[in-house]
Amino acid sequence: MSKKPWYDDGLRFRCTGCGNCCTGEPGVVWVSDEELAAIAEFLDEPVGAVRIEHTRQVRGQTSLKEFANGDCTFFDGQTRRCRIYPVRPTQCQTWPFWESNLDSEESWEAVQLECPGAGRGDFFSLEQIEAAAAKIQI
Ligand code: SF4
Repeated sequence: MSKKPWYDDGLRFRCTGCGNCCTGEPGVVWVSDEELAAIAEFLDEPVGAVRIEHTRQVRGQTSLKEFANGDCTFFDGQTRRCRIYPVRPTQCQTWPFWESNLDSEESWEAVQLECPGAGRGDFFSLEQIEAAAAKIQI
């Protein structure tokens, strides 16, 4: 029988909308062809144009681009909101329940330093956390 994960009793999370996870340090935000098509439809723009303007290739996969300051290409600096929130990629939807963040209590504590919503707010059961983490390997 495998050992219970440290978050067996569940975790709390509620986004405060601070924007920290969409800004600052550069990183990759993986986006699939299906997700890109949904984003293009939401923006009412041709998918090819969205691909050129908002994505880049990283290690043979597609990632969203960033502005020079590291902010996500879809982050609205004025409202500090995501411009494509209803159709944001799985990577964004499943934050902060990524395997890398759940790896250990220390990893989760590091997440809490950046994300004021991690560890507070809505309760997520072990099953919910694992279902989110299984959607994408990060
Ligand atoms: S860092 Fe956390 S609280 Fe801030 S916008 Fe991202 S998910 Fe929400």
